[in-house]
Amino acid sequence: MDRARPRLGYVSSIVLATALAVATSVAGIAATQRMGWIDQARLAAAETDLDNWMGYGRTWQEQRFSPLDQISDKTVRRLKLAWYADFDTIRGQEATPIVVDGVLYTSTAWSKVMAMDAATGQVLWRFDPENDGSKGVHACCDVVNRGVAVWKGKVFVGTIDGRLIALDAASGKPLWSVVTVDQKQPYTITGAPRVFKDKVVIGNSGAELGVRGYVTAYDTETGKLVWRYYTVPGNPAAGPDGAASDEALQRIAGPTWSGKWWTLGGGGTVWDSMVYDSELDQLLIGVGNGAPWNHRLRSDGKGDNLFLSSIVAVDPDTGTYKWHYQETPAETWDYTATQQMILVTLDLGQGPRKLVMQAPKNGFFFLIDRTNGKFVSAKPYVPVNWATGYTADGRPIERPGARYADRPETIYPSGIGAHAWMPMSYSPRTGLVYIPAMEVPLTYGDNAKGAIHPGRWNTGVAFSRNADGKPLVNKGELIAWDPIRQKEVWRHQYDWPWNGGTLATGGNLVFQGDARGFFHAYAADSGKELWSFQARRGVLAGPITYRVGGKQYVAVLAGYGGSMGVATASPFQRYPQLPGRILVFALDGTARTPPEAATPEMPPVQVRDRFTDAQRADGAKWYATFCQICHTGPVNPDLMRSAVAADKDAWQAVVIEGALAGNGMASFRDYLTPAQAENIRAHVAAQAASMRTSGGAK
Ligand code: CA
Repeated sequence: MDRARPRLGYVSSIVLATALAVATSVAGIAATQRMGWIDQARLAAAETDLDNWMGYGRTWQEQRFSPLDQISDKTVRRLKLAWYADFDTIRGQEATPIVVDGVLYTSTAWSKVMAMDAATGQVLWRFDPENDGSKGVHACCDVVNRGVAVWKGKVFVGTIDGRLIALDAASGKPLWSVVTVDQKQPYTITGAPRVFKDKVVIGNSGAELGVRGYVTAYDTETGKLVWRYYTVPGNPAAGPDGAASDEALQRIAGPTWSGKWWTLGGGGTVWDSMVYDSELDQLLIGVGNGAPWNHRLRSDGKGDNLFLSSIVAVDPDTGTYKWHYQETPAETWDYTATQQMILVTLDLGQGPRKLVMQAPKNGFFFLIDRTNGKFVSAKPYVPVNWATGYTADGRPIERPGARYADRPETIYPSGIGAHAWMPMSYSPRTGLVYIPAMEVPLTYGDNAKGAIHPGRWNTGVAFSRNADGKPLVNKGELIAWDPIRQKEVWRHQYDWPWNGGTLATGGNLVFQGDARGFFHAYAADSGKELWSFQARRGVLAGPITYRVGGKQYVAVLAGYGGSMGVATASPFQRYPQLPGRILVFALDGTARTPPEAATPEMPPVQVRDRFTDAQRADGAKWYATFCQICHTGPVNPDLMRSAVAADKDAWQAVVIEGALAGNGMASFRDYLTPAQAENIRAHVAAQAASMRTSGGAK
């Protein structure tokens, strides 16, 4: 169908009237054009369609490169804010927006969706999926959402409570909705759907909480399930799933598992990266870590546990297995292969080869032949000590002791990742990949015999601060990596691990935000910093660029994102309470943000009740087990400063009765007795008291 000339008989008159009414107010869209009209031919030609950013990574290759060069290393000093729009929450913002014909579509925290005029920021519509807020507690790393997909007039979003919803791109009204997970299990969805060939494919998250990963393809028009691919085997006694993965799980993956892995899910969630490879007509999926992490607890310490920590290629029409490559066999450190994949054709010296590039959590930069899944090369892009390298056939050479069986080991990198969800980019002009890298070591000890809390974090790992007596230093860097020489070319060092997704442009620029709230432009070839903007909240999402009416814009979502926002005590607490926003820049932009006063930090709470040492000690244990994973960063309330802790009844109402479930603080009745909850309050009271005597510092 010609995207500019809708078949009138096909479109309901109400939808069309809405579409035209909205469309006439948007500069970049012709009055007769249907909103959000992307099809196979148009996405296939996305590389040369400079006005638009039509897919998660711009094109199906997901290089996050745009040839646009109005904003360049020569002009970037004139880059100013063109418009901005505030979101409704301080929760994490991770989405990469989509721009089609002058309309910008983005998801925000809690899987909400907005459509805006991409030139002015005028809000065209908003959609709230009205999630069950109590599902927020299942999200390991905040109630984030990394983006929408757009296809033939529909906008697709996965929700934190496990639905996939199709919206009318013109009105934001839901057209269909399917539940893609068993909502009785602790699944969530934070990743962006991908679209191709009238199919929309979605994964899910929750491996730390004990689920079994899979991806599902649905018909974009009807929402009917087309195929499902499970990444790990289920309980053999239950028989095959009746899914596209049955044959591969039985023949290839099944023999690589031992023990009773299915009782804790097995893991292997596909929570972020999927790439449709249009050249080879295959879908690549990036598979996550094991559940639980500890291979001895998960699989009796035996077997590679396919398809954990693997890139798997499947037939996009049927979901049947084509090939796989496993980056971390017998995964035991939370090493996912879910990080963004970039498709390239590179000449490594013997002619052009079709490759997929990935910089996963385990610290090695991979080149894999995407015609057959064969290993090409892997080199460390950060300090790595779990393995010394890879053999020629693609097996890691592990360092003895790295599996922390006999004593705790400090491992570089940790499961935080040498690289997490923040997308990397690749510029064909410089030939460099721009990786938001992190150096966060962690000390792992064996806890295979520790208590299991079904539905909560279960890793089988005992964490401690340090095994070797030396202080652990956390830092991060933007690394410009030459994939052909497998070598770093330049880096920008940050004093904090979390640094944002990257965008490379034809103007010889790389854009990237950081956790201190700056949004930077670097020269893509030399790494020299040319420009920056203080956003006063962390900028971690993937930036995009597009053009409306001949003017180039750069857009990025600002707001602390991911596990940093909830789980990491940061030096950035001074901007804790500002809502997320989208920032859009253009040359000589004239927008100004109003002055903002950060909400003053609450003083440590005064608790007048008396507790025993035994209560405080018991409470400290439960605090570490259930509370600190979500209440350490700037996004969620600091319990040591929470007025709720001052009152026994209020505390019980929140922790046991679930009074704040709608905000994401679900009841812990299934995990804690009222007396244990009270003991946590005893620990919080003691911590708050010591903060007061030390002048309020944490
Ligand atoms: Ca994980």
